[in-house]
Amino acid sequence: RSPFTSAETSGTGPEVRAPRVIGADAPVPLDDGRRVPYANLDYAASAPCLEAVHEAVTRALPYYSSVHRGAGYASQVTTEAYENARETVRTFLGAWRRDAVVFTRNTTDAMNLLAHAVPSGTSVVVFESEHHASLLPWRRAVRLPVPATPAEAIDAADRALAATPAGARLLVVTAASNVTGELWPIRELAQVARRHGARIAVDAAQLVPHRPLDMTALGLDYVAFSGHKLYAPFGAGVLAGRADWLRAADPYLKGGGASASVAETVRWAPSAEQRHEAGTPNVLGVIALAAACDALTAAGWDALAAREERLLARLRAGLAALPHVRELTLWGDRSPRVGIVSFTVTGWNARDVALTLSGEHGIGVRDGKFCAHPLVRHLLDGEGGAGCGEGAAVRASFGIGSTEEHIDRLCTALARLAGSAR
Ligand code: PLP
Repeated sequence: RSPFTSAETSGTGPEVRAPRVIGADAPVPLDDGRRVPYANLDYAASAPCLEAVHEAVTRALPYYSSVHRGAGYASQVTTEAYENARETVRTFLGAWRRDAVVFTRNTTDAMNLLAHAVPSGTSVVVFESEHHASLLPWRRAVRLPVPATPAEAIDAADRALAATPAGARLLVVTAASNVTGELWPIRELAQVARRHGARIAVDAAQLVPHRPLDMTALGLDYVAFSGHKLYAPFGAGVLAGRADWLRAADPYLKGGGASASVAETVRWAPSAEQRHEAGTPNVLGVIALAAACDALTAAGWDALAAREERLLARLRAGLAALPHVRELTLWGDRSPRVGIVSFTVTGWNARDVALTLSGEHGIGVRDGKFCAHPLVRHLLDGEGGAGCGEGAAVRASFGIGSTEEHIDRLCTALARLAGSAR
């Protein structure tokens, strides 16, 4: 008998239970020696693990074994769990049955795998505002400037794809910005791509922890995301999408598993998954990632999104009431977004804001350019040195486990920075 529940091995998901993260409110030291419960507002970097994820890994650990090649019981059940995880992810993303679901290390790895598999001569079109993971892997790409509106994004993609030479085309775009949290019009961009016979690859790293994604309904050809932003541990990610390019490409990593037969010549495995998952995979990371998919689905996206919207409204209202704090937005106050807000503080550099929030208030945020240098530069243009002068910003991001108290603590802490410029 498999140690996994029938729901897990059939990929239908665990029983419904409110999701909880591990380590919410863990005590952290302040500069003055006091300890306070941590206010983790850094989910967009890596989200804390869900209890359900921890439980799934704990159930798998006694059968710790490699997959695919072992005849022993532990290897059999682990292989079953690993392959069921693939089907869980397929369902989670609404991918086609014929699509490949390749386990990678993270989103960066997934986008680099796709760049490796793109047929030579493919015209790649990408917005400059992408996270570097989606901006940089392409050998050559047409870079579109940061669009002033979603309509401009659609129009720019349309014109750029029309201007590319005949042959394969690929449009690369984020689903939700890791800087502003704003949602990109991926449905419309997929339609534009389709009109030009192009494919669309979506960086869903910041969308899937917050909203459901249905590749089939949206007409997406490829989706990439990371387990560690989805309440699972580091080191497992996904590239899902059309199998033909992946099947035709040489293995991303060459070695055991990727090869079907090795003699004087090597025949590579025909399936996209085998071909690009050479070596012993991150079995526990994959089981954990699938457990996170199941737990979020079971929790219900409507409930998760409604709670997040409440926290987001509270945070944005709190920031708007602080004249020395400016929220960064690409498309204005009303554009829909997930629980990610970046801002600058007049007279303060971003690093000092983040260190003060941590050392004096026990709040974790991120500061910097968030691996999206062109976008942050664009958003800070016009700051005229009034905000975080060194071209960086502060980002607060949240999810399951974040509370109103965390949001209020951040707003109170930021209020204290007024007039005390560093
Ligand atoms: N894409 C987006 C939108 C991200 O926010 C991130 C992570 O910050 C990545 C890609 C890269 O993810 P990873 O570091 O897990 O490869």
